Amino acid sequence: MLKKFKQATLRSLKTSGVSTLVQNSRWRRQRLLILGYHGISLKDEHEWNNTQYMPPAVLRARLGQLKKSRCNVLPLDEAIKRLYANDLPDRAVALTFDDGTADFYQRAFPLLREFDFPVTLYLTTFYSQYNRPVFDLMCSYLLWKGRNETLNLQEFTGEDFRFELGDSDSQEVARRGIHAFARENKLSAEEKDTLLSKLAARLKIDYEALLAQRIMHNLTPDEVKKLASDGLDIQLHTHRHRTPKDRSLFIREIEDNRRSIQAMTGKTTSHFCYPSGAYDLEFLPWLRESGVISATTCKPGFASQAADRLLLPRVLDNLSLSPIEFESWLTGVSAALPRRR
Ligand SMILES: [Zn+2]
Repeated sequence: MLKKFKQATLRSLKTSGVSTLVQNSRWRRQRLLILGYHGISLKDEHEWNNTQYMPPAVLRARLGQLKKSRCNVLPLDEAIKRLYANDLPDRAVALTFDDGTADFYQRAFPLLREFDFPVTLYLTTFYSQYNRPVFDLMCSYLLWKGRNETLNLQEFTGEDFRFELGDSDSQEVARRGIHAFARENKLSAEEKDTLLSKLAARLKIDYEALLAQRIMHNLTPDEVKKLASDGLDIQLHTHRHRTPKDRSLFIREIEDNRRSIQAMTGKTTSHFCYPSGAYDLEFLPWLRESGVISATTCKPGFASQAADRLLLPRVLDNLSLSPIEFESWLTGVSAALPRRR
């Protein structure tokens, strides 16, 4: 109901011309909209997780809306410099993608090239170097794929728990059980990989086919290299997709990530995105110490000069945003509407 009301409000703001006033306003010119994306489906990933994945056709429609709304899509580094110099063009936007999943190379990048939009990829590097499925994601995806099956966790965790995987709650409980087992037993990447193939076999899933399609894989070092030489800006997202609350471990995550990106691209990095959007004020001095000059969160909003450079808001675009809601972010109208937390 609330969503319906919001859509109606946005439509009337559009027809009454308020949206046009806002999008050409000084208020909007002093603000940068940073958009965040994750995966673009190779197959059915958006049916499994519609906040992290969208089909290529939806991304194409979004890029079309950016063009139609005459947004000025800037490279992230330039956009941030111009934000703080009070020198942004009208309707400024920066595009970012998180993680560096294999589909970025196959799905997202060709579309971004077609529209000639600059983009920043925040790359987490562990699973680029170890190019096997990302354990957490593939585990969850397999449990969803196996939703017509019954699973006993005994052979995976030693606990005699039987699950009908038909509903998402059971899938989640099973996933947590497997994760806790992997964590408590400090399974190596290879051991986790073996567990995944065993899980797929038990759920009657053709795992080799998923591997061949590179579902839940990260970009290979070769792909990263090609993308970088093709002009893609690649920045920091930690090596193991985590932010330990310990100074030296935190800094190690940044350094390992930076070293790995530099080895693949030959380029330096100074922009950062908090994995899973999890930030803590304690991280800020550690980021500064690591030479990081900007960091984006997942807190929806516009970046203004008043924002801390290491806590920049960012709108995660996903399938739950309707075209008119997406447009209201481009124009700036959405900033005036109440938001659900
Ligand atoms: Zn991430």
